[in-house]
Amino acid sequence: MIIDAHCHFWEADLVSDDFKEVLSAIAKQFNFEYSLLSNGDAERLIREMDEAGIDKTVLLALDGEFIFRSRVTYKEYNDLLAKYMRNYPDRFIGFAGIDPRRGEEAIKELERCINDLGCSGVKFWTLTGFYPDDLKFYPFYERVEELGATILCHTGLGPTGTYLKYCRPVYVDKVATDFPKINFIMAHIGDPWTKEAIAVATKNSNVYLDISAWEPHLKMAPFAFYETLIEAKMTCGINKILFGTDWPLFTSILSLKEYVDGIKKMKLPPPMKMMGLPEFTEDEKNKILGENAKKLFGL
Ligand SMILES: [Zn+2]
Repeated sequence: MIIDAHCHFWEADLVSDDFKEVLSAIAKQFNFEYSLLSNGDAERLIREMDEAGIDKTVLLALDGEFIFRSRVTYKEYNDLLAKYMRNYPDRFIGFAGIDPRRGEEAIKELERCINDLGCSGVKFWTLTGFYPDDLKFYPFYERVEELGATILCHTGLGPTGTYLKYCRPVYVDKVATDFPKINFIMAHIGDPWTKEAIAVATKNSNVYLDISAWEPHLKMAPFAFYETLIEAKMTCGINKILFGTDWPLFTSILSLKEYVDGIKKMKLPPPMKMMGLPEFTEDEKNKILGENAKKLFGL
């Protein structure tokens, strides 16, 4: 089974002026085609999942209202997520977009999304300006634990106009330690703080890493890609690594199919082989591509 553990979605209504600016900045920065960034609807996603052989995808709604003006409220965004989950019940695992700074209201929305909409987790968009280990959020975490939900926390680099300092992987460590029954997924292996992310995942049995947004590394910096994956395998273990894409953001670099095939065909660059490093086995590749996520989500 192949599972994409980190994927976005949006429709034209959601692409507000503020968000359009963010997408345009990403397009300019990486020389991506804007149309490939701005089209993020379920029909395109399902088509590309089918082409790639991806069985299930974790869809992340975003609550960016603390820094971005939006045409729809974060609750409406969660409702759109629910619509996609209803339309494709076997394909999508929903993570609600909820900013924990909303206090009591965040807890109410959490309950609505998990109990009524059928979501499995929550996406924390820390780059909008909060530390995930703030004690103020502990009542929220208590409810997450009771509901058996998972937290996918943004860690690492974000686009221009967002805040980097909140995105250090180490800020997941305390809350993961204090709430050992909640599973946390740290996005992007915390890039550029990959060692820090791997350390947090090594220390905490409930912390996982996703390799979303690593398409450019696989295509253009394979040494960095393999070095990080080998280090993760060696320290936190292969069971902690989850395939993810950040769709549709990196489809100008690699399509879903190309990224899946890239993982299936992983082969160490010759100098690494000459150093005696072992290749990734079929079993390890399958674990990354979906078996780990399958276990994590109890599928
Ligand atoms: Zn993302």
